[in-house]
Amino acid sequence: MILTHEHKEIYRQVKSFVDKELNPNIGEWEKAGIWPAHEVLKKMGDLGLLGIAKPEAYGGLGLDYSYEVVFAQALGNCNCGSLPMAIGVQTDMATPALARFGSDELRKEYLAPAIAGDMVVSIAVSEAGAGSDVASIKTTARKEGCDYVINGSKMWITNGTQSDWACMLVNTSDGKAHQNKSLIVVPMDAAGIDRNTKLDKLGMRSSDTAMIFLDNVRVPQRNLIGKEGMGFMYQMLQFQEERLYAAACAIDGLGNLISETIDYTRQRQAFGQALLDNQYVHFRLAELKTEVEALKAMVYQATEEYVAGMDATMLASMCKLKVGRIGREVTDACLQFWGGQGYMWDTNISRAYRDSRLTSIGGGADEIMLGIICKLMNILPGKKKSLAPMKSQAIPA
Ligand SMILES: Cc1cc2nc3c(=O)[nH]c(=O)nc-3n(C[C@H](O)[C@H](O)[C@H](O)COP(=O)(O)OP(=O)(O)OC[C@H]3O[C@@H](n4cnc5c(N)ncnc54)[C@H](O)[C@@H]3O)c2cc1C
Repeated sequence: MILTHEHKEIYRQVKSFVDKELNPNIGEWEKAGIWPAHEVLKKMGDLGLLGIAKPEAYGGLGLDYSYEVVFAQALGNCNCGSLPMAIGVQTDMATPALARFGSDELRKEYLAPAIAGDMVVSIAVSEAGAGSDVASIKTTARKEGCDYVINGSKMWITNGTQSDWACMLVNTSDGKAHQNKSLIVVPMDAAGIDRNTKLDKLGMRSSDTAMIFLDNVRVPQRNLIGKEGMGFMYQMLQFQEERLYAAACAIDGLGNLISETIDYTRQRQAFGQALLDNQYVHFRLAELKTEVEALKAMVYQATEEYVAGMDATMLASMCKLKVGRIGREVTDACLQFWGGQGYMWDTNISRAYRDSRLTSIGGGADEIMLGIICKLMNILPGKKKSLAPMKSQAIPA
């Protein structure tokens, strides 16, 4: 991926925003367990950063997805994982389907304000009983008059206590699990919504994560994104951008941790020399740097394929798998070299150690990525039919 002047300019602008507006406040927001989403997103909207790859008709910049990847990479300079994640919900997880498949009216009402930073958005797919197995969600939306009436609940929803609307996956019929789902724009101030349960988490502390209960919530049928019954498909497409975004965010973040660890081990003395001068330490840091460069190359290659209109599912899934794995490897190895100081709560390294653990779980766990990759490699065994044991096969006592 050749970076143009425009790519570099977006990177510079976002990095400067991170340095001035986000990093100085992270300590405070981590303690509070929430970030001021409306305030931060409005500033970003004013700078034109929330719709880089979105259509110009709704306030976006209309650029291709490679610019969004550079945006994510620059945001990765945040000294925490939660802000890139929560901002990415707005730009790359909750809005791609609306931008691509929503009606003009719906995009004017909900996409344009999200791009302007006037509305905060959530993506509401997971449920307490259905995370990896998206097809088994239980929340329903049945038609009544001009409305959908939604009942059910959603779990672990990022930005959930303060979002203005959620892109919600619901069952709109009783048909087959991959064909009975729809994505609906649900205004979060609708009667019957309870999103007061803010969940306490291991990491990603400055982003709010909510449980959402929906009790006979009425939403106009015109809030349907695209066609009824296509929600599962739209969500799978939307996941592509989520996964590329997550991987792109980690490139600079992990690189910074390695640089900070080099600085720390260079000045930290033990046994009469700098820690860094132990071959195990500098070799290990070189290995980690190599892994991060490999991730970057894979993200850029996947992005090129995606921008070229090719099916990037395999590479995007590999990026997501790789970022989960090396996120854990880099943060664990670096924390080790920081010793007791690395074990302190408020250091960048311990925060990264906690935050990065989510990447192998959220937005499709490592094992789900492996399943997709195996399927595309044509090595995933088909579902076996359960056979009733025959008498002749009974295991002798
Ligand atoms: C901080 C945070 C923020 C989140 N934000 C959002 C959000 O904004 N919107 C949203 O919709 N969801 C969100 N999620 C939910 C997240 O996407 C799910 O937690 C994730 O998809 C995993 O689902 P689960 O937790 O139900 O795990 P389960 O599906 O119960 O799986 C548990 C584990 O089992 C293993 N596993 C699962 N399936 C297989 C398999 N087929 N083969 C082998 N192993 C398997 C994996 O290791 C997996 O981690 C968030 C979660 C967290 C923790």
